Amino acid sequence: MRKSLLYRSNVEYGDFCINHIEGCSNGCKYPCYAMMMKIRYGTIKSYEEWIKPKIVGNALELLEKEIPRHKDKINFVHLCFSTDPFMYRQGEVADLTLKIIERLNRDNIRCTVLTKGVYPKELANIKKYSNENIYGITLVSLDEDFKKSFEPFSAPFENRIKGLKYLHSKGLKTWVSMEPYPTPNLVQQDLLGVLKKISFVDKIIFGKLNYNVRSSQFRGSKEFYQDCASTVIEFCKDNRIEYHIKYGTQKRDNKRTENIFERTTLGPLRLGYKKQPSLSL
Ligand code: SF4
Repeated sequence: MRKSLLYRSNVEYGDFCINHIEGCSNGCKYPCYAMMMKIRYGTIKSYEEWIKPKIVGNALELLEKEIPRHKDKINFVHLCFSTDPFMYRQGEVADLTLKIIERLNRDNIRCTVLTKGVYPKELANIKKYSNENIYGITLVSLDEDFKKSFEPFSAPFENRIKGLKYLHSKGLKTWVSMEPYPTPNLVQQDLLGVLKKISFVDKIIFGKLNYNVRSSQFRGSKEFYQDCASTVIEFCKDNRIEYHIKYGTQKRDNKRTENIFERTTLGPLRLGYKKQPSLSL
């Protein structure tokens, strides 16, 4: 049981946030920033505890109380900052997430969603869910061996992409978070090959890997991320995809892309990008 659910945040994807699950079964080892914080503040003791998700039992009751209080101030609600709303093979989590999105949309509150799971097809039902929601996946590789090491219980990359593509095919807005992108000493891969797989999306966010000891040992990471950022920008321009390169990824941050999602194809979208630590989600 929680005392509150909907809160104002500095997360770049929405001005309000909901985390209706404690823990996350994807079990990322980048490491997971959310898990590190929970361990640091004593909320949980271990990785093993983190990967056993617990839903917030009174989430829907709290929403009923909190929506009237906040709805005029909300631009987007982001699901989720410190967990995964569609974590792989967690039916109970997905059911609650769908109810939360439906409830928010009923009051014309739009959602941005980010997952390493597979989107349920029913999100394409625009009688129930707003067609102004924006659905994203995290995708930093296509290498399943890399996935086994770094996000062992998340959805296979192909399934993740397929789920997103389905929503795109139904006219919904989609995006990909390519963050935290690994250095070559963690996985040797072709960035362009990954980008080509997601060329259908409306926007791509690219960011470097922080907090990882092995990654920080990679010599030339500044040059590496600079090259990656250039590849992403060129690809996005060629394919008319919106993009944003996270702060600290390029040698010089480009302020002009900061508010890129305030314009063009994404209609009323107003995502203001603020400087903040990278997320692993
Ligand atoms: S990084 Fe995100 S998806 Fe991975 S375990 Fe943490 S909260 Fe879950």
